[in-house]
Amino acid sequence: MTYVPRDLEDGRLYISMEYATAVHLCACGCGAKTVTPLSRGGWTLTFNGAVTLRPSVGNGQAPCRSHYLVNDDKIRWLPPIEAAETRAAIARDHDVAASVHAVPARTGWWSRLRSALRWRN
Ligand SMILES: [Zn+2]
Repeated sequence: MTYVPRDLEDGRLYISMEYATAVHLCACGCGAKTVTPLSRGGWTLTFNGAVTLRPSVGNGQAPCRSHYLVNDDKIRWLPPIEAAETRAAIARDHDVAASVHAVPARTGWWSRLRSALRWRN
C-alpha cells in the first residue's frame, strides 16, 4: 500500500491518479484514515476550483461515526451513520419522510483542505 502516504496531515486530501483513490483523515479530527476509491460505484471527485466528493463519506467503522459531504471545499455534516440508518428505518416503518439535518460546515477545516489540496501522481 505504498500509494497511501504514511503520515497523513489533518485537513489534507491526498489524491492518487494512478490508483484512482483519495485518502484523508476524518474531518472530525479523530485521525481515522478515510480511503475513498474513485471509480464507478465508488466515489466521484470533482475539482472546479473547489473539491466536491460524492457520495457522502461515512466513517461507520471509526468511533466517531462521522458522516459528511465534501461539497465545494466545505464539510457538510450529516447525521452519524447509526442515527441516519435508524432514522431511515423509522421512516420506512412509519411512512414518514426522513429528514436529514445538515450542520453548518465547521470553519477552518475546509480552508485547510482548500489550501492544502495536492494532486499526486
Ligand atoms: Zn472522526
